Amino acid sequence: MSASQTLKDNARGFHTKAAQTYHDGQRANRPLSIPIVQATTHQVETGEQLGRLYSTGADTFYTRFGNPTVTATARKMALLEGAEAALIFSSGMGAITTALLTVLKAGDHVVAQRDIFAQTFKFLDTVARDLGIETDFVDATDLSEITTAAKPNTALIYIETPSNPQLKVIDIRAVAAIARKGNVPLFVDSTFASPYIQNPLALGASLVLHSGTKFLGGHSDLMCGVAVGGAPLLVRIREVQILLGNIMDPHAAWMLLRSLKTLGVRVQRQCDTALELARFLDSRDEITRVNYPWLDSSPYSELAREQMRGGGGVLSFEMAGGGDAAHAFVDALELIPTATSLGAVESLVEIPADLDFSSKELGAAGCEVRVDPGLVRLSVGLENVEDLLADLERGLKAVG
Ligand code: PLP
Repeated sequence: MSASQTLKDNARGFHTKAAQTYHDGQRANRPLSIPIVQATTHQVETGEQLGRLYSTGADTFYTRFGNPTVTATARKMALLEGAEAALIFSSGMGAITTALLTVLKAGDHVVAQRDIFAQTFKFLDTVARDLGIETDFVDATDLSEITTAAKPNTALIYIETPSNPQLKVIDIRAVAAIARKGNVPLFVDSTFASPYIQNPLALGASLVLHSGTKFLGGHSDLMCGVAVGGAPLLVRIREVQILLGNIMDPHAAWMLLRSLKTLGVRVQRQCDTALELARFLDSRDEITRVNYPWLDSSPYSELAREQMRGGGGVLSFEMAGGGDAAHAFVDALELIPTATSLGAVESLVEIPADLDFSSKELGAAGCEVRVDPGLVRLSVGLENVEDLLADLERGLKAVG
């Protein structure tokens, strides 16, 4: 797990923190690319030393407990989020479920945003429910729904902002104030933002979660998850992670570390292109609504500008012709691949309603979760904007 960073580090700009390998100011003789320690275990001189490695939580004891390459990656993530500590997992769901299982026990109650990532919803609605943990799902854009849902046994508030796939923006600072008042932690899934454009800890959140598979990895070749927050909570989550075993392989951690060096450059370009594409789509009659927080027409535009530094690289839009039009549009695209996931160097498109879990399987919680069949989600990559615009035009022509 990452140690805390110095004030000097935190004063530096995001790209500097991302690009530089070391932040201790030393002119030591050492590699500028962190070595991949592809080992499951380390030899020591005495049995007593082995015991000490275990009891001090050293990252050279056994790789399920920690590994120097994974530690370096966690330290970089903590630096980028402005946090004390971070943990790296084998997937975003690994990070989310481990963090939830750390703070929740039978008899607890959770207030969660209704339109969170469908599989997070499903975990709370099935596995957690079967363990005796009850969740009320609310519209977190309406703060009164959160306060009304809270009970004496509420042990956690859980939000995701911007949300997948509707790009709703939740007021992190306001929800954090509610959580603080109730003395419960606030978890924020910040996957759609990345630390380049949003730092929920600075707004009062207790824990930030990322599917690192998305913007952090950024090249459609890496599954990973990250939890970032204060050291005491991260120590507890690490204990559960060691037991569940959903750790990240050292080589994969190195790939993440490499990708993080360019995170800000990639996400800035993705934000710029996404805004241009959002404006183009917003001007078209074939589309009834574009969800992108940086659009002036977005109901979240003001809030987004308060808590984010850009609109992000994902947008979604509803086709006037519904599901048939969405399919005609997507199938006519020649440049942008149809594939699930987001945040990568190449643009990707999907129709969320085609994925069963987006709307149909949810419901044990007794609330309706529906995704419009005409909704298209577009993740914007690093391609030339003219090429992307030409492809979108091609798709719209097919809608007729
Ligand atoms: N959170 C959000 C907002 C996501 O979009 C996803 C995946 O799409 C996840 C969590 C889960 O991440 P992973 O697929 O890396 O387990």
